[in-house]
Amino acid sequence: MARYTDAVCKQCRREGMKLFLKGERCLSPKCAVERRPFPPGMHGRQGRFRRQESDFAQQLREKQRARHFYGVLERQFRRYFELALRSRGQTGLNLLTILERRLDNVVYRLGLADSRAQARQLVSHGHIEVNGIKTNIPSALVNVGDEVRVRESSRNNAYFRDLADILEHRSVPAWLSLNASELSGKVVALPTRDQIDAPVNEQLIVEYYSR
Ligand code: SF4
Repeated sequence: MARYTDAVCKQCRREGMKLFLKGERCLSPKCAVERRPFPPGMHGRQGRFRRQESDFAQQLREKQRARHFYGVLERQFRRYFELALRSRGQTGLNLLTILERRLDNVVYRLGLADSRAQARQLVSHGHIEVNGIKTNIPSALVNVGDEVRVRESSRNNAYFRDLADILEHRSVPAWLSLNASELSGKVVALPTRDQIDAPVNEQLIVEYYSR
């Protein structure tokens, strides 16, 4: 399974915004965007004074930001775009909906993990089941009506032991429902655009792939 192995904070610095890829650290003064608010690399500091970006550069940045936000590599992201294109409705919104339906994203949105990277690890280590079936594929797409739950055998794991109490005080997006005591959640609807907090202009991504 291919994955991004470089320092993830560079991705935020390149985008010039917090993408919240590291859980609690993102809310602390240790956040790299706050300590070094300029792009990474030798010429990063001069990068703050970059001339105006071309249309293509803006489209590319938007696509990269969405990829980094959801932790998806290029080839898979393109596959999602092609799936979005074939689906009915607005391609941009379809694309974001597909990304939100990824199992690692749903685990993160339910509050079972502090970041999508951690959610991805929980799934691939076999702690999660969907509709009662162990699922260790973070990119699996969930559907309306699916139930996502921490497996019974993982409940005694130190990480999950105190999680139920923490989840009691958390809220989840309206398209999900959470059962904190059971460490489970359900997909009650597909997300609408205002329920998706991805900081991207999906129309520019559609334009990028439509060149
Ligand atoms: Fe991004 Fe979080 Fe790193 Fe800050 S700490 S740069 S928000 S990943």
